[in-house]
Amino acid sequence: MDKLSVDVLVIGGGIAGASVAANLTSKTKVVVVEAEEHPGFHSTGRSVAVYAPMYGSKVIRDITAMSSPLFKKAEDELSQAILSQRGFLFIAKKHQHQAMNNLRKELSKLSNLTHMNIEEAQKLVPAIKSQYVSEALFDPDAKDIDVSTLHHYYINQLRACGGKILLSQRVKKIEQIGSHYEVVCDTVTIFCNKIVNAAGAWADEIGQLAGCKKLGLKPLRRTAFSFEPDNWDYKDWPVVIDCEEEFYIKPETGSIIGSPADETEDIPRDVYAEEIDIAIGMDRITAALDFKVKSIQSSWAGLRTFTPDRDPVVGFDKKHKNFFWLAGQGGYGIQTAPYLGKLSSDLILGNTYSQTTEDSELITALSPNRFNK
Ligand SMILES: Cc1cc2nc3c(=O)[nH]c(=O)nc-3n(C[C@H](O)[C@H](O)[C@H](O)COP(=O)(O)OP(=O)(O)OC[C@H]3O[C@@H](n4cnc5c(N)ncnc54)[C@H](O)[C@@H]3O)c2cc1C
Repeated sequence: MDKLSVDVLVIGGGIAGASVAANLTSKTKVVVVEAEEHPGFHSTGRSVAVYAPMYGSKVIRDITAMSSPLFKKAEDELSQAILSQRGFLFIAKKHQHQAMNNLRKELSKLSNLTHMNIEEAQKLVPAIKSQYVSEALFDPDAKDIDVSTLHHYYINQLRACGGKILLSQRVKKIEQIGSHYEVVCDTVTIFCNKIVNAAGAWADEIGQLAGCKKLGLKPLRRTAFSFEPDNWDYKDWPVVIDCEEEFYIKPETGSIIGSPADETEDIPRDVYAEEIDIAIGMDRITAALDFKVKSIQSSWAGLRTFTPDRDPVVGFDKKHKNFFWLAGQGGYGIQTAPYLGKLSSDLILGNTYSQTTEDSELITALSPNRFNK
């Protein structure tokens, strides 16, 4: 068994673990351990890659907005675009008028939203069926995310400063010895001062290995599939989403991604798309949009892991002062990663200099202590 000593051990090499490690690496000795052979094997590699500033709770929307300049910083450093224009169109049937009103009220502070009638919505997405949709809400600021480039930007930053990501190293045992930890993985034992739990759907399991109380994280399965409708030129259409999130489509080059927007309770594991969920998704999509679809090109599923109040958990454990939670990002973990990675790094290093009032309010809202009173 190899041995390694570091200041901070990050468990999980998805977008969350990579982003916090990249922020820490120039200031302290950090290593990431990832159970799989590839760091994006689980949720990070299965997202539909949308940056949607109007999507999710107020906390999520705030974090997404605060991530925006950090996406820009990454693009400037790489001289490469990570975000590209897409747009987001909520659609409502007649009987969803109240739901649409609630959504408009909730999002009223976002200045760029346009409420549309069916004709205006059809100018953006001509496939929308007149008899199905009665109104729509459009946000032009949603973008496609190049997830692989963002993820590798963080991993490369980590490596450039001497940090490491160890693949195929599943954490099996965590022992606290005084104020330090001894963490046993497949073929290496790591001694560290602090642990960052960025294990996605497995975060509660990792917490328990370290002796922490469970936070009640729930991995919810979401299905996605791609198809090519043979009757439209769709590549510049926005994401189209039911205003109560019963389905969505996201156009890409060469295909459209569809989803029934399912949230099926599952367990931490390598999940697959079930035929029934694909059928439900396709049924809902073709009820709203005039698509002629011959076949499904590919399908997959991933876990969106939520805390009991559906906002992420970011901060040191109440009882285990050197154990840091970065989990529960739900369906927003890519678009929020730039800010959550930076905030986590600041909190782990004890930096308060860069924190504004907005930061402080968020720190309270994200604290794991809200579940362990
Ligand atoms: C279908 C779908 C669509 C989505 N669409 C979007 C979107 O459009 N925009 C958006 O922002 N978000 C989206 N998301 C959500 C986003 O993908 C997640 O929030 C994000 O990827 C979570 O990142 P993570 O690093 O926490 O988790 P993961 O990527 O799952 O990484 C956690 C890692 O921890 C590792 N691990 C677990 N246990 C151990 C252990 N014992 N030892 C070592 N390593 C361990 C796992 O192998 C895994 O690689 C979507 C998710 C799904 C499923």
